[in-house]
Amino acid sequence: MIPVRRAVFLDRDGVLNHDRGYVSRPDNFDWLPGTMPALRSLQRAGWGLVVVTNQSGIARGLYGPAEYQNLSAWMQSELARNGIALDGVYHCPHLPDAPLAAWRRQCDCRKPAPGMLRRAARHLKLELSACVMVGDKPTDILAGRAAGVAACIRIADAIDHASCDVADAPADFTCATLADAARWLLEHEETRLA
Ligand SMILES: [Mg+2]
Ligand SMILES: [Zn+2]
Repeated sequence: MIPVRRAVFLDRDGVLNHDRGYVSRPDNFDWLPGTMPALRSLQRAGWGLVVVTNQSGIARGLYGPAEYQNLSAWMQSELARNGIALDGVYHCPHLPDAPLAAWRRQCDCRKPAPGMLRRAARHLKLELSACVMVGDKPTDILAGRAAGVAACIRIADAIDHASCDVADAPADFTCATLADAARWLLEHEETRLA
């Protein structure tokens, strides 16, 4: 098998599923409409699919690492039932002022830092300059920029206004759904991203 060289980095909440705030169980994980076909179309076109998700709910003590892993395994099995195989799922459990000392850290992985994208690139042998970031918050776009990806796409319907304390970061393309993002990417990959 040819190793994946390029991937779409996907934020989770607000991109794949409704951002209900600290989603921790399958019963409050609601897929956004069109997620499955959008991911399938990207996968068919040769894009790796890598989830990069801030999970400060762990640092805040709202759910534990095991509960997070359970949800992540469930998410991947749902994707697999739909013919989609993620190349990686990376999460940041940290927070600089976490109530739980075990997770209190100024880490390099909490977006807007690019640590998760860099780690994935190392593990999966991705060319970051050929990758794309898709997220719903300015911190996602900033993480993509810091990692040096080719393009950053913002899903704007799901903006969490609580995140507006972060200076806004212009995206290369802003759209309402992951399906729009996938279409834009497939249309532009030859010309812009080659
Ligand atoms: Mg999000
Ligand atoms: Zn972290």
